[in-house]
Amino acid sequence: MVGDMPSVTPVTAATQASAGLADRHGRVATDLRVSLTDRCNLRCSYCMPAEGLDWMPTAEVLTDDEVVRLVRIGVESLGITEVRFTGGEPLLRRGLPAIIDAVAGLDPRPEISLTTNALGLTRTAEALAAAGLDRVNVSLDTIRPETFARITRRDRLHDVLDGMAAAQAAGITPVKVNAVLLRGVNDDQAPELLEYCLAHGYQLRFIEQMPLDAQHDWHRGEMVTAEEIFAALESAFVLTAAEEPRGSAPAERFLVDGGPATVGVIASVTRPFCGACDRVRLTADGQVRNCLFAREESDLRTALRAGADDGEIAERWRAAMMTKLPGHGINDPSFLQPARPMSAIGG
Ligand code: SAM
Ligand code: SF4
Repeated sequence: MVGDMPSVTPVTAATQASAGLADRHGRVATDLRVSLTDRCNLRCSYCMPAEGLDWMPTAEVLTDDEVVRLVRIGVESLGITEVRFTGGEPLLRRGLPAIIDAVAGLDPRPEISLTTNALGLTRTAEALAAAGLDRVNVSLDTIRPETFARITRRDRLHDVLDGMAAAQAAGITPVKVNAVLLRGVNDDQAPELLEYCLAHGYQLRFIEQMPLDAQHDWHRGEMVTAEEIFAALESAFVLTAAEEPRGSAPAERFLVDGGPATVGVIASVTRPFCGACDRVRLTADGQVRNCLFAREESDLRTALRAGADDGEIAERWRAAMMTKLPGHGINDPSFLQPARPMSAIGG
């Protein structure tokens, strides 16, 4: 095994033909991450610079109808069973309730979820729930206002906390929380964040910081590792491995103080789970990415706008899976960060 490349099982032609979005390494993508915009109203330091980025020109961004069409092809022809909307900040997309409504009307109906910073969720949670949103993941790295302002460069902690409460009140439960720990900034705050989530019935998962920031500032030595996250949590709680097998879920889950509440740790860098990956991504400008860290993309938007029929789009999408690498390679000396940052890929 080279670096973090997991061992792989070759896939037969028969499996490929029958398996929807199969790749060459025995994996089948059923979980589609759709980025609806690269824009954002926060400026998390591990994601983008203070001044923001050069946003995608509007003409290049898929329209609501184009998004729904591609998702429909994924669901009806390619075996997609879960659709997660993300960004940038997906709540900035005005058509979001209508997109969710249309996707909820597909047959078979996929699970529909949203990854969001929760700004604006107080206003939209009810409409999103009514449209068919099943689950929400809110990104929250701290419950201290000054640390929040330092990380996100905006003084909006209250709006985020209110947004989470609104999602819960609208029945989009359980609210999941994604947290990134940064050394010297919030790495001393893991227990209090967990305490807050436990008290509110939210499910917290910590994610190792990945080399996907627009500024290319990520340094392995500064990353707070899963090991360190466990140690910090175990200083305040008793953690025991949750019963269920990890499967393709990236989070390793632990019962907190005997349960039933749990906490998750997503060790994307130090314990990669690429061998069980079931994801594929669609960017806001209509490019299929078979991995967060892929350095190649497949352009569906041009084909779509040139009048390609559903079968041709599906064929291009299937072909895009054939170049999926067995692992993300972060731990290889030759690793190169993808050109697009996380905010333009869809996290
Ligand atoms: N704006 C939304 C949000 O923050 O939830 C959705 C997009 S954001 C790119 C999706 C997730 O990626 C968030 O949970 C965020 O914390 C995470 N993220 C962003 N940059 C990251 C990085 N360099 N390493 C690990 N996670 C990152
Ligand atoms: Fe925006 Fe999400 Fe990136 Fe933070 S992590 S800057 S909320 S896209």
